Amino acid sequence: MSAAVSDVSPDPVVYLNGELVPLSEARVPVLDRGFIFGDGIYEVAPLYALEGGRTAFRLPQHLARLARSVDKIGIVNPFSNDGWRKLIGRVVNANEAAGGLRADQDAIAYIQVTRGVAKRGHAFPAGVQPTVFVMVTPLHLPDAAQRAQGVRCVSAEDRRWLNCDIKSVSLLGNVLMAQFAAENDAFETIQFRDGMLTEGSSSNVWMVKDGVLSAPPRSNKILEGIRYGLIEELSAECAIRFEAREITEADLRAADEIIVSSATKEVLPVTQLDGQPVGSGKPGAVFAALYAAYQRAKVKEAQEAQQGAKHESAEQSERLAV
Ligand code: PMP
Repeated sequence: MSAAVSDVSPDPVVYLNGELVPLSEARVPVLDRGFIFGDGIYEVAPLYALEGGRTAFRLPQHLARLARSVDKIGIVNPFSNDGWRKLIGRVVNANEAAGGLRADQDAIAYIQVTRGVAKRGHAFPAGVQPTVFVMVTPLHLPDAAQRAQGVRCVSAEDRRWLNCDIKSVSLLGNVLMAQFAAENDAFETIQFRDGMLTEGSSSNVWMVKDGVLSAPPRSNKILEGIRYGLIEELSAECAIRFEAREITEADLRAADEIIVSSATKEVLPVTQLDGQPVGSGKPGAVFAALYAAYQRAKVKEAQEAQQGAKHESAEQSERLAV
């Protein structure tokens, strides 16, 4: 897809603490604990332009993870699910109105909540208001060539903390892993902790052996991607056996297929790991089945959201309110 000039607004409209402002004018005080301590969480959800409308894909699941993240670090969730959905809708509308986002363009919602601004001191300050930031920008999914050829990955020891289940903005460990991939001309770094697969720097990792799909079990050692539950569902739909199990480094290196998943990558085949071909060196049949099922799931959710048929209450709806 060729990028039109309007594909990426250099200055999207963002929400910051109650106001819609151009990104270039959005400011937080330097004593914001997100800046000083990385004391905050974030969430990233795709907003697909499908079936003549915009659907926040798996929004209830993304908002549930956001609620778990704030809860785990003792921040009171600033909004209800309905409040978050309306807020994302407001930011989408503002960007469409400003011409920075076309109605037919897929987008990504980035939400960040920090503990707020306070005199510097490690323990939680009393009586501070969380900082809330929402940004919506065009989503550029991997292209057909990446899906057809697969991507190259490298591996490294997972040196992060043991609360990887919190979607924390303290991402230095993940940043270093992404940089390691970039320096090695690789798409992603796949991490092992004590010889066991954990995840990528910003993706979950799946393997296929003898037709069985597996991934490390949900735990504090990985972020449970919203695609984790989705891929479980899609594999059942495709009659692919799925096992959540500990995966050794040797298991992964002997895999027939490796797949990475995330909101911005959907599912992508890994065809080379540390310079060695994965399986046949080509994307496999399980990837192809999951990718096709993923695209069907997007359309199905969009149709259901448009019909308003999926959920009884607005609270649960995935359609973005205008
Ligand atoms: N693990 C990590 C460390 C991530 O940053 C991401 C991307 N948010 C994922 C897994 C995948 O999560 P999701 O499917 O919700 O994008």
